[in-house]
Amino acid sequence: MNINRKSFIKSSFIASSAFLINVPILATQKTNNELSKQIKITDLKTYVFKKATFVKIETDSGISGWAEGDHSNPKLVSKVINDICKKEVIGADPFDTELLWNNMFFKGEDVGTQGVLTGAIAGIDNALWDLKGKILGLPVHKLAGGNGLKKVRVYGSFGRTGGPNGIRTPEEMGKIAADFVNQGYKTIKARMQIRQLNIDPDPDPTFETIKAVRKAIGDDVELFVDFNNGYTPSRAITIAKKLIEHFNVAAIEEPVSYLNYQGLNQVVEALDIPIFAGEHEFNRWQIRDLVTIGNADFINADLIKAGGFSECRKMAFIARAFDKYIMTHNTRPTLATAASLQLCASIPNAARVQEYAGQRIDLDLSNLFKDYFEFKDGYLSIPQVPGLGLTVNEEEMEKNKLN
Ligand SMILES: [Mg+2]
Repeated sequence: MNINRKSFIKSSFIASSAFLINVPILATQKTNNELSKQIKITDLKTYVFKKATFVKIETDSGISGWAEGDHSNPKLVSKVINDICKKEVIGADPFDTELLWNNMFFKGEDVGTQGVLTGAIAGIDNALWDLKGKILGLPVHKLAGGNGLKKVRVYGSFGRTGGPNGIRTPEEMGKIAADFVNQGYKTIKARMQIRQLNIDPDPDPTFETIKAVRKAIGDDVELFVDFNNGYTPSRAITIAKKLIEHFNVAAIEEPVSYLNYQGLNQVVEALDIPIFAGEHEFNRWQIRDLVTIGNADFINADLIKAGGFSECRKMAFIARAFDKYIMTHNTRPTLATAASLQLCASIPNAARVQEYAGQRIDLDLSNLFKDYFEFKDGYLSIPQVPGLGLTVNEEEMEKNKLN
């Protein structure tokens, strides 16, 4: 009786499946499903530049995925990709992104659960999303679940390091700020790049720099300041209050060491303006602590450092449960920006203004791409083409890579 019942259920299932397969409207869907099942990853290549790491994942379908991993220590990131992560990916189904992420992270954890490992995984994970999008003919945000966002306002982000003398003067910072405003940006962020190595600097460049920046941009432009971990909590509070009072600063980023969540919480409690943090958090567990202990208002998830699109989405949902926004950390107008835009269009808590550093001619990477993002009136459009949304010039990549 039991066997007969099972046989009946089995034969009914086969019959109904056959019926469904014969419905013509599902033909395209079936073709896509079958296509994706057949595809296997055949190779993974890294492309190392002075300040960039790109990843290409090839499949037996002829379709490839391209993305960017961590730009800090590119040779080391490339080595971790090739020595630790590559073997988990070759021969795999590119649609098993959760399985591959888990294998790369937990089999590679002795390298460290943040930094170079998550920067390496990010390159691979982002390339897998690019690949999945290209196989299915969908932009990544549609594949993950779109939120309807078509464009996002960006703020011009620039730092004190660089220029002919290594460190920019307040006047040089003011000029860069004014250039952003002239291009249509309504918000800018000055990065002080003090860092913990030089904590509580004396002399302290922040007040004079922000004074020059505010003078250069006028009163109507929204101004954020990134302390880049440069102060102890009490000093950060004192400086921030002065900047708010004199220059109408609207938000402060990483006021204290990223290793001191209690100190961050102290600053959050003391100031009325939003506090940003998160570019030194590389996985969901660090974000949990940043949110629950540090209580930062905006979370700066970095798509090329923090485990890629898959992990940054998880960070976004943790943040959402605490009413925190995601403001991606993004200083690179390359596949990092593409991945950031795709994330913004697929999470429920993208901040209304996102970081962008402009075309960054200094990086000398723009010739590596055949197209560029649509920027208009201070907004970047969300790419609507299959994958992440930027087409790599493979010839230039091959020609100019350092590895
Ligand atoms: Mg920052």
